Amino acid sequence: MGSKWGALLVSEALVKINANLLEISQWNYKLSNAGVGTLIRDAFVAQMEEEGKSLRAAKAALESALSSGTDLLVHREKCDQMNESYKTASLQVRKHVAHSFADYLLCTLGRGVPVKENVYRDQIILQRIPLLLPHEMYHFLYDDSGKLRVDRQELALYWHHAKVGWLDADHPGVGHNVIGLYGDDCRYNKSGEKLISITWNAVLEESTSLELSRFPICVLRCSLAIPDYTLKRIYSVIAWSLQALAAGVHPQVDFEGKPLPVIHAKNQGKPIAGGKAYVVEYRGDLKWQREAFGLKCHWGAAEICHVCNAVKGGAVLNRHSQGYITQGVLSVANGYPSLTCKAYNGRLMLIFLDRCCHTCLEDHPRDVELVNACVGIRALCGWFDMLERAGRYLDLNQRAGLYMVGRKFVATVERLALIALLQGHQRWKLQPKLHCFVHVNEEHAWWGFNQRFNHCYVDEDHIGLTKKLAQCVHRGPLMEFRILCRWLLRLGSWSPSDEG
Ligand SMILES: [Zn+2]
Repeated sequence: MGSKWGALLVSEALVKINANLLEISQWNYKLSNAGVGTLIRDAFVAQMEEEGKSLRAAKAALESALSSGTDLLVHREKCDQMNESYKTASLQVRKHVAHSFADYLLCTLGRGVPVKENVYRDQIILQRIPLLLPHEMYHFLYDDSGKLRVDRQELALYWHHAKVGWLDADHPGVGHNVIGLYGDDCRYNKSGEKLISITWNAVLEESTSLELSRFPICVLRCSLAIPDYTLKRIYSVIAWSLQALAAGVHPQVDFEGKPLPVIHAKNQGKPIAGGKAYVVEYRGDLKWQREAFGLKCHWGAAEICHVCNAVKGGAVLNRHSQGYITQGVLSVANGYPSLTCKAYNGRLMLIFLDRCCHTCLEDHPRDVELVNACVGIRALCGWFDMLERAGRYLDLNQRAGLYMVGRKFVATVERLALIALLQGHQRWKLQPKLHCFVHVNEEHAWWGFNQRFNHCYVDEDHIGLTKKLAQCVHRGPLMEFRILCRWLLRLGSWSPSDEG
C-alpha cells in the first residue's frame, strides 16, 4: 500500500480527532463562560477528558499504523468509532452550554451529607448532595423569567377561606403566597433500587405542564441514605431555605451560619422575587409522613392516627376507630381479598365494579352483603362525582352533600365488615385508608376546601417523570446531579405561553 494513499485514507479521521481534542481542551472555558456551576463543570470536564484519552489512544495507534503501513483500515475504523462516541458523549455538555441559564440554582452547601459509601459496605462518607434550594428556585420562577406569577386576587380568596378554616387567623403567612411540600420514594429500575424525591409547588398554580407543576428540591438514591442521618441533614437545609422564603429575603449566611459561597451570595439581603411564601401543605403517603416527621402514631402503632386519638382495636363502629390493623396492611392483606388500585385508576375501576355489583344484584336481590356493597360503592362513585364537579372552595350545599355521601360510604363499609364477621367470611377488611377518608370527608364539611386541590396525583406523576430521568442518566456518584440537570433543561425550554 503506497504511503501517499495511506495518508489520504487516514487524514480525514485525524483531522476530526484533532478538532475534537481541541474542543475538549476548551470545554472548561466554555462552560465557565456560560456560568455553569463548578461542580457540574468539573463533572463534565472530567467526563470529556476521559473521552479525550480514548481519542488520543486511537490517534496514536492510527499514526503508528500509518508509519508501519499495517492494519490501516482497522485503525481508521476504530478512530471513526471514537469520533462518533465522543459526538454522543458531548451532546449533553453542548446542550448545557446552550441552556446553562439556571445552573447557579444547583448547589451543595456545607461539608456534605453523611451517606453510605456504597451499597455493600456500610462505610460512611460525607457526600455533597445536589439541591435546588426552594428560595432560589422560587426567586428564579417569579423573577423576570416570568415562569410563574402571583395572582393577588386568587391569594386573597385562598386566605379568606383558609382563615376561617384550616389555618389560624393569626397565621404569620396571612395574605402571602402559599406553597406545598411533597416527598415520596419510587423504584427506578428493574432490580428494585429506589430514589427519594422531595419537591415543592405553588399551591394556587394550576399548571397544565406536568414537568413544571412540581419543582424538585433533591433526589437521592435510597441505597445511599442512612436512616436518621442523611435526610435529617437535608431537611435542615430545606428548612433554612423555607425560612428565608417565609421572611421574603435572601439569606445572609448558610444553614450553619457560615458565609455563603459566592454564587449564592450575590442576592444576599435582597428581597426574594414573588414575595414571602409559606408552606401550607405537607403532602405524601402515610409511609412518607410517618418517616419524615417521625410520627409515633401510625398504622402500625396502637395509636393509629396522627390527626386524632383513634386507637387500634377500638369499637369498629366508632367514628374515629379502626378494626385491628396489621403491619402488612399496605401490602397483601392476610386472608382478605384486597384490591389496591392507584389514584385515577381506582376511580375508573370503581365505576366498573359499581356496574358489576348492580348486575349481580339483579340475580340475587335478597343477598344482604350484595345490597350493602351496591349502596357503598354507589355512594363512593357519587362522592367522587361531586368532588370533581366542585371547584377549589365548596359552598354549603356541596359541603353537606359530600359529607353525607361520604358518611354513607363509610357506614356501609363498616356494616359490610360486620356482616362478614357474623358470617365468618374474611371480607371487607377495614383498612387505615378508610380512617384517612373519614378525615378527608370531615375536612370538606368543616373547611370547604376541595381535597382534589391538594391530593397527590400530580405529585405521583412527577415522581414518574423523575423515574424516567433516572433511567436515562448514567449511574455513579453524579447520578443525582444528572437527574436535576436534565430537569433544569426542561425548565429552561418551558415558557408559560406554551400552555393551553
Ligand atoms: Zn384520625
